[in-house]
Amino acid sequence: MRATSPQPQLGASGKPERGEAMKYEAVIGLEVHVQLLTESKIFCGCSTSFGAAPNTHVCPVCLGLPGALPVLNRQAVEFAIRMGLAVGGRINPRAVFARKNYFYPDLPKGYQISQYEEPLVVGGRVEIEVDGRLRAIRLARIHLEEDAGRSVHAEEYVGANETLVDANRCGVPLIEVVSEPELATPREAALYLARLRQLVQYLGISSGNMEEGSLRCDANVSVRPAGSKKLGVKTELKNMNSIRSVERALEFEIRRQVAILQQGGRVEQETLLWDEKRGVAEPMRTKEMAHDYRYFPEPDLVPLVVDPAWIEEIRASLPELPLAKKRRFVQQYGLPEYDAELLTETRQLADYFETAAAFTPHTKKLSNWILGEVLRTLNERKISLERFPVPPQYLAELVNLVEDGEISASAGKKVFDEMVESGKRPEAIVREKGLAQISDLSQLEEVVERVLRAYPGEVERYRQGKDKLFTFFVGQVMRETSGKANPRIVNQLLKERLGVRRG
Ligand code: ADP
Ligand code: MG
Ligand code: ZN
Repeated sequence: MRATSPQPQLGASGKPERGEAMKYEAVIGLEVHVQLLTESKIFCGCSTSFGAAPNTHVCPVCLGLPGALPVLNRQAVEFAIRMGLAVGGRINPRAVFARKNYFYPDLPKGYQISQYEEPLVVGGRVEIEVDGRLRAIRLARIHLEEDAGRSVHAEEYVGANETLVDANRCGVPLIEVVSEPELATPREAALYLARLRQLVQYLGISSGNMEEGSLRCDANVSVRPAGSKKLGVKTELKNMNSIRSVERALEFEIRRQVAILQQGGRVEQETLLWDEKRGVAEPMRTKEMAHDYRYFPEPDLVPLVVDPAWIEEIRASLPELPLAKKRRFVQQYGLPEYDAELLTETRQLADYFETAAAFTPHTKKLSNWILGEVLRTLNERKISLERFPVPPQYLAELVNLVEDGEISASAGKKVFDEMVESGKRPEAIVREKGLAQISDLSQLEEVVERVLRAYPGEVERYRQGKDKLFTFFVGQVMRETSGKANPRIVNQLLKERLGVRRG
């Protein structure tokens, strides 16, 4: 994560800087909507798949036609419980769905089924590492709800100023993860979001893709005099579609609020829309979100009572979580923190490393290859690890060939490139391309003797003190062996033959 850009009132740490007349600190709380990876919607059998023709994945239930009745999707509940357990939250023995009423074109029902006073998950925490220090951000709640449709402001379809509605997304299951107001800086907010995204990906409950809208964040922020316990008036930022833009929007808004307070003004509680291109957040033109939602219990659904045995079953099926995996990688494989952090970024990369590590004792070197060559190749080819053609075992074998001196480091790079092209086994490539390094002692001794016999004058001058000639002899041996001699052994043999000279 990059550091935040400098702010006039808040230092990079978010703590007020010295020498300011009045010091302020920011308080941030995030509401994150996560789209769950179920095949069907939360209350009907319609498909959740993305990119279908508009309004083709709809039925009377998700359109809210009269008489249609919702039926709860068990998989969505399971996913929400997975998340709740992963963050150490309490699973409410009895959760109640509630209608949240509002009018908006993308909500044909006129209400959204959500949870209000009795959410499925209460409490829990998300751990972030800020400058090497672990910080637990507490969660208020996680609740289950349905998504609304999408307004498409698509000039290309119908000309200017027209808005179309696509109801395919109506009823797609979401969890909303609500943090306590405990994040102190935009950077902490970014780390928190990155951790949440990583968690849902590890748990397999969401793609976590912010650009595609699978993970959406509303950021609440206020400022207050440094050290004050009382919360200031908050504003809510919407419309950020990357972690970086959440960070930028918060930086902007904190600066704006501090400036207002410094001029003796008052921050107005409102919702602001972030404009990524212009780098500013502005009040929504319509106050469409300033409603009384008139929540009431959803009459068409019974309270959700979760069997404790099911909760335990889900708990037992949780994967190892990112931070635990990272710590284990440090311990078990002797990796630096930095390597372990990067290798556990995704479960797929961590699995790739571990599968390979079973085939080589050189785990740090293996890590170097993965974080260097493998990631570079994925980047260059714009492919995911799933489509990377080199099986983990082959990469480990390549690491062994280099580390055991069978091939040189530069030959190793060649073999790697060839593996990416052909998917062949490293030994086969070494054989085909004649890349094997000569480490055979008697064979190299012979070459060294031959070289020294061929250059008696140089040998004499070397013995008389012309040190520089040593590299000349190494070069000759390399030439004789077409660059395949093991340089370490050649050096050693030459030293023995020429005698270690003393000044
Ligand atoms: P609302 O009723 O306005 O939605 P909530 O109490 O539900 O407010 O909180 C919504 C989000 O706003 C939570 O993530 C919470 O942490 C955050 N939040 C609440 N008050 C503040 C504040 N004064 N400053 C910053 N964030 C806040
Ligand atoms: Mg709220
Ligand atoms: Zn439907």
